[in-house]
Amino acid sequence: MPEPLRLQGISASAGYAEGPLFDLDQAAMRYVRKASAADEKAALEAAISIAAGWLATLIETSDSEASDILEFQLAMLEDDALTAPAFSHIAEGMAADVAWRQALDAEIAGYETSEQDYFRARAADMRDIRDQVLRALTGGGDIAAPAGAILYGEDIAPTRFLETDWSAGGGIALKAGSAASHVAMLARSRGVPMIVALGPAELGASPAHLAEIALLDAEHGGIVLAPSKAEIAIFRRSSLSFAAHRGKAAAYLTRPAATKTGIAVRVQVNIADPSDVDSIDAATCDGVGLMRTEFLVGKTLPDEETQYRAYRKVLAWAGDRPVTIRTVDAGGDKPVPGLTVEECNPFLGLRGIRLSLARPEVFRIQIRALLRAAMHGNLKVMFPMIAVPEEYERATALFAEEQADLLARGIAQKMPPLGIMVEVPSVAIAPEAFARAAFFSIGSNDLTQYVMAAARDNISVAHLNSVRHPAVLRLIASVAAFGREHNIPVSLCGDAGGDPASIPALLEAGLRDLSVAPAQLAMAKAAIADVWI
Ligand code: PEP
Ligand code: MG
Repeated sequence: MPEPLRLQGISASAGYAEGPLFDLDQAAMRYVRKASAADEKAALEAAISIAAGWLATLIETSDSEASDILEFQLAMLEDDALTAPAFSHIAEGMAADVAWRQALDAEIAGYETSEQDYFRARAADMRDIRDQVLRALTGGGDIAAPAGAILYGEDIAPTRFLETDWSAGGGIALKAGSAASHVAMLARSRGVPMIVALGPAELGASPAHLAEIALLDAEHGGIVLAPSKAEIAIFRRSSLSFAAHRGKAAAYLTRPAATKTGIAVRVQVNIADPSDVDSIDAATCDGVGLMRTEFLVGKTLPDEETQYRAYRKVLAWAGDRPVTIRTVDAGGDKPVPGLTVEECNPFLGLRGIRLSLARPEVFRIQIRALLRAAMHGNLKVMFPMIAVPEEYERATALFAEEQADLLARGIAQKMPPLGIMVEVPSVAIAPEAFARAAFFSIGSNDLTQYVMAAARDNISVAHLNSVRHPAVLRLIASVAAFGREHNIPVSLCGDAGGDPASIPALLEAGLRDLSVAPAQLAMAKAAIADVWI
């Protein structure tokens, strides 16, 4: 038996799995060349339509989160712009499989080398599309992984994830991958343990290592190949305690959150797409503390009607509970084609409210949709990336102008409370300039990266990017105190709000209102119940 090999990556979905490794990158079946270019073309056309059929079948049996991902893939596959280069290669004499691979690899390289995390994460979807068609071309299917296996490889395709039966356990360990990928989102919402960024295989894994069982600790981001008996025993204890913790947390889901001494804490959810609420029981949370709207923007900017319907859907789901919708925060790590601009330092550039104010014709569409939607529920609206009070004044003036216009046209509307995100240090340090805002919502993801000068999506400075650094906590505490003194409600909607390790410090800093990822709701409530304040 080989010596144990320990590899460290990054947790993309917390949990534990023990099982055989299954190599995701094993060789595909071979393609048989056709007699003529016309036959090659026909073979590729048939394979594309078979792959589209597989996707359509998978969409029928998937929930809304998964089907959104698959519909994106189907739309790409049906887009002539994607397939045309492969058909040109075939016309030049190439075999269908080589032509398809070459065309798609060129496309994938564009995504992989993008500076934006969002586009790099979409490379996995493009690889999935490539491999589905190659699979159809060779008439083959994927070899099914044994039940409970840890799927190990360069990256994993969303379709592969969805076709895998996770009921017997198992997990995912990727040499590359990204915690922002679609698969990572799916893994988190289904509780499948997953780690990414383990690095290249040259780290020393021999075939003998790969033949042994592996221990995946996706709570801390590590994997051990060929573990010793002692390691297995320790691992099992940690795994049991994690499961017990999660099981215990589930019991908190349906209760209102409160600390050990009974102090009530509001826990709302963060959503990005109206369909996110389909899988959340409204009774388990205190409303929506953050609805990000930049993800509504697909290939084109959504029109007023589409936005209005999206906002109404969430308001209807929430009933009397508040729904805080944030105006588009494009830019930074969330580029939107056709809206954001290429910048060498996008986190410090034209993003959030800066971009909306620079493109008022786009902003006004969203404002009208929000004013109309406000008639149908407890809507609040907030502006992202506010740095100076003039931005707040200009944004609220645009709301007033659009309200007057709707009124003149006899269209039903209502002015919602208008608040701001506190995520730029200038606001956290000098909040007095913003006393007119209806509420503050602390964006700890951005506030931390700007205070620590450590980009939120850069692994090499991840150790510096901590909300629990005294400098960040001191700012959060002073914003909370300012809110109390001036009767301005203060909440926090960054990822730290759902992190059990950060919750005690946030409550200690004076916060009583957190908004968390839906998958973190139970864990956050359980962590709050453990705090002695
Ligand atoms: C934040 O910065 O904490 C936040 C909630 O906004 P986003 O993550 O969308 O930038
Ligand atoms: Mg932010």
